[in-house]
Amino acid sequence: MKILILGAGVLGTMTAYYLQKAGHEVEVLDSASDVAQGASYANGGIVHASEVMPWSQPGMPRKILSWLGNESAPVLVRYSVIPRIWRWGFHFLKNCSDHRFRNNTLANLRLALHSQQCFKEVRQELNLDYDLNTNGALKIFRKNESLDNAVSFNESMREFGMNSRALSPSECLQIEPALGESSEFLAGGIFFPDDEVGDSYKFTRGVANYCKRNGTVFRLNTDIVRLEHSQGKIERAITTRGSFSADRYVVALGARSPFLLRPLKIHVPIYPVKGVSITFPSDLWPNPARMATIDDELVYALVPLGNRVRIVGSAEITNYNTTPDETRCAAIVKNALSVFPDLKEPFNKAKPTLWAGLRPVTPTGTPLLGETPIPNLFLNTGHCHQGWTLSCGSAQIVADIVNEQRPKIDLEHLVLDS
Ligand SMILES: Cc1cc2nc3c(=O)[nH]c(=O)nc-3n(C[C@H](O)[C@H](O)[C@H](O)COP(=O)(O)OP(=O)(O)OC[C@H]3O[C@@H](n4cnc5c(N)ncnc54)[C@H](O)[C@@H]3O)c2cc1C
Repeated sequence: MKILILGAGVLGTMTAYYLQKAGHEVEVLDSASDVAQGASYANGGIVHASEVMPWSQPGMPRKILSWLGNESAPVLVRYSVIPRIWRWGFHFLKNCSDHRFRNNTLANLRLALHSQQCFKEVRQELNLDYDLNTNGALKIFRKNESLDNAVSFNESMREFGMNSRALSPSECLQIEPALGESSEFLAGGIFFPDDEVGDSYKFTRGVANYCKRNGTVFRLNTDIVRLEHSQGKIERAITTRGSFSADRYVVALGARSPFLLRPLKIHVPIYPVKGVSITFPSDLWPNPARMATIDDELVYALVPLGNRVRIVGSAEITNYNTTPDETRCAAIVKNALSVFPDLKEPFNKAKPTLWAGLRPVTPTGTPLLGETPIPNLFLNTGHCHQGWTLSCGSAQIVADIVNEQRPKIDLEHLVLDS
């Protein structure tokens, strides 16, 4: 069968990998000049089953309201976009109930655990160099109440496969010496031994190169303008470089997925939520971080990536603009440096690279995998803040669905509502 993958982010490229492996003729189309130039480029790099909780969660509406208009708040909804997102926002609010939050979290967790396994298999087969760090991840807390709530939530997820260990401040310092004296101000932490870190761009590029060597065609600099359909089937993708036909089509266009689907009357509730990252060399840091640290209260992550360090965070609803906002970058750097003071000098001496990307966020906080009302059109999109984590597993599942095979996990809450 010939299959056209629309989008060469980490989700599209991994879908190409699994479909090629299944023996299909695969072509990938993307408007950028390289793979993984959208959200998959300089994201946090953490593969974390520990962060599968959707942002639509109890307590979030109150927090978002209290942050309105605050330029350095972790989540910022720009007033100008509110009229455009009321429908998406209404569904987001609906999904903040205890019941829906739990169901959506469990669906993501199922997929994340499957994805971790797929990551291991892909690594074994392809032997990729992508700054992999398997030291786990640490979440730190300043308030006893937040720590206690998180510990009991993680305990309740243990029977479903989430692996975590609560730590005292001195245990946090033991496993992450880079915290130094900051550990004294902590209530404690939670360690997630199965989480890992790696460069999503390097990984995607490595997989794409492997696919190319094995016959997959990547047509880059190719902007997909629309999908033409007749008699209930997609016939071709019209692009700025001609039209392309296939037996089946997979949409993996990240935050831009709705644009091609809307004219087909397929409504995918995805809205872009902008985040930023700041990356700089870590060689001047005398006591560099061993693992990813996620700060529960100040809402940023500090991630060691090979010989670099990346600070990442911010959720800004501001349409499709991808210019990194300096105020928001400065706010998360300030927060990170307040916890890792030894990093101040290396940061001041370095020329940090600022980047912004658009997370494809659904109101449920779960991705959309598999079938659409058009039988030869499939989805692998809407992975929110977890697209890197869920990439290998989602692509494996979508490839099974395209191949008319039974998916390996229960897909409840992971498909488009009919
Ligand atoms: C700041 C930040 C930090 C993050 N940290 C993490 C993390 O630590 N762990 C984690 O698991 N996830 C993280 N994420 C989320 C993750 O990066 C995304 O969920 C994931 O990259 C989405 O991948 P994608 O392939 O769906 O989209 P993208 O990578 O955006 O790819 C979509 C592709 O479609 C192409 N495209 C779109 N429209 C068209 C068109 N009309 N024609 C042709 N091509 C088109 C684009 O060029 C792009 O290449 C983070 C995201 C951000 C922004």
